[in-house]
Amino acid sequence: MERKKIEKYAREAGADIFGVAPIERFDELPLEKHPRAIFPEVKSVIVIGRRITRGTLRSVEEGTNFSNYYIYGYDWLDNRFIALTTFRISEFLEDNGWEAVPLANLPPEVPPMGVKVRKKSPPPNVLLDFDDVAVRAGVGEIGYCGVLLTPDYGPRQRIQIVLTDAEIEPDPLLSERICLYGNGCKCSCPLGALKGEKEITIAGKKMTVAEIDYKMCTSCKNGAMPNRYHPAGKPDRLAAICIRSCADVLERKGKIKNRFKLPFRIRDVWSVKQDIDLYRL
Ligand code: SF4
Repeated sequence: MERKKIEKYAREAGADIFGVAPIERFDELPLEKHPRAIFPEVKSVIVIGRRITRGTLRSVEEGTNFSNYYIYGYDWLDNRFIALTTFRISEFLEDNGWEAVPLANLPPEVPPMGVKVRKKSPPPNVLLDFDDVAVRAGVGEIGYCGVLLTPDYGPRQRIQIVLTDAEIEPDPLLSERICLYGNGCKCSCPLGALKGEKEITIAGKKMTVAEIDYKMCTSCKNGAMPNRYHPAGKPDRLAAICIRSCADVLERKGKIKNRFKLPFRIRDVWSVKQDIDLYRL
């Protein structure tokens, strides 16, 4: 399918981010983590993203309201807004004769579960690591803080995936570096959850990321939330102080294309300790 045609449709359907990975870029993955385990005929993996608007993070940054982010930056953004875009792109592909498998972002830490139905298949309910897929589709990189960074929005987006048997011209891996760790940014956690660092490689792209104690993030009261699907899944940290600080530094250093008149961080940053009892302040 012509790349221009599908991308134009996706943008009109609300996608802020669009990238394509050819299935061969997943050759290094085991079947339990491979798109082919879900759709054996898949040729292209499409990544669709929508931004978390900066204003959605405002009331968390100010410490005045957390539910607004939960609705517009997390639940509705993922389960309504992007889901509709993903579904419309799937319909478009199928209107053109190509099968399209829409995938929601479920925690890849949960292993396939259920009764194996074929000898050579993994058990059902294979879940892909969407950040990994996004890197393979050229939309971004994994920053030191352990989340997907894109040139347009830094850490402010959520993504979904469509697997299709259409051959679509792929994107190259992102060559520019977005993360500023060690180069004007010290990604830090007020609770000490960053315990060291490691190098990861995705489709040949090397990235240095922090080793994170996600148990601490699960109970972090600085904007993080436990994974809403499964206790084994990583917590949502996109509104946490660590990632908001990352977004602010990337903006100040001109690393994000989505620009604003005022800086994101206007006042002193707030944080609360892990053992604080929010009902006895
Ligand atoms: S989510 Fe909380 S505990 Fe985890 S790294 Fe960020 S600030 Fe630290």
